[in-house]
Amino acid sequence: MIAFTDSHAHVDGPEFDADREVVLARARAAGVQRIVVIGAVGDTSSAERAVALAERDPDVFATIATHPHDVDKMTPDWWALHERLATHPRVVAIGETGLDFYYDHSARETQAEAFRRFIALARKVGKPVVCHIRDAHAESRAILAEHGAAEVGGVIHCFTGTPEDAAAYVAMGFHVSFSGIVTYRNAQPIRDSVRVVPLDRILIETDCPYLAPVPMRGRRNEPAFVVHTAEVVAREAGVPLAELAAATVANTARIFRFPTG
Ligand SMILES: [Zn+2]
Ligand SMILES: [Zn+2]
Repeated sequence: MIAFTDSHAHVDGPEFDADREVVLARARAAGVQRIVVIGAVGDTSSAERAVALAERDPDVFATIATHPHDVDKMTPDWWALHERLATHPRVVAIGETGLDFYYDHSARETQAEAFRRFIALARKVGKPVVCHIRDAHAESRAILAEHGAAEVGGVIHCFTGTPEDAAAYVAMGFHVSFSGIVTYRNAQPIRDSVRVVPLDRILIETDCPYLAPVPMRGRRNEPAFVVHTAEVVAREAGVPLAELAAATVANTARIFRFPTG
């Protein structure tokens, strides 16, 4: 059986409260052996839930931050909690953080300020950053470069830019993660982007519960569905599914420094 890693899942969220254990079992049955849970949505309870999940399951890892959508709500208490959780041994990265100028749910300058501060936190604890970037690629690259994010490295998650953007992130030393969007009919620029990212820099993710890949599109997304995204990414990368799966498992383990053995 082919093994996969879902590098970005929101299984801490309320969408999974009714059947979380069933969802995690279904992931394992599909070969999705490891899952990175992103504790960053809404308020700080997301970070606490992600860490709790990672504490009790050796195949689940957590990240912590506040999503760019929600940074307008941040208080000094939130920063104190993030700084405390950042050093937790089951927390493998700081994120998701970044700029979302498509939705603009938080003020742009607030997003940029939080992004800078989370990069500084990542550098302080020596962990990579998981970046959420939408319609703000040039601005994000400027912040990543100016604040030395490449020193800790990171992932441009749910990539939605152009092949030129993908190549620029690769040149800066970052990894690029593809979600179910890559399977959508109108997503040709994202499929083209797969071809410019070297196989040792590609990650795959569900970003569940949203963005279910074809043929599951429209349903609640879950980690087991990352297999469908892997199939399309393998095809675009020009490698067999088993090779794409092995590369993305290894890349995720390396960037997030999963324990070996
Ligand atoms: Zn995101
Ligand atoms: Zn996400």
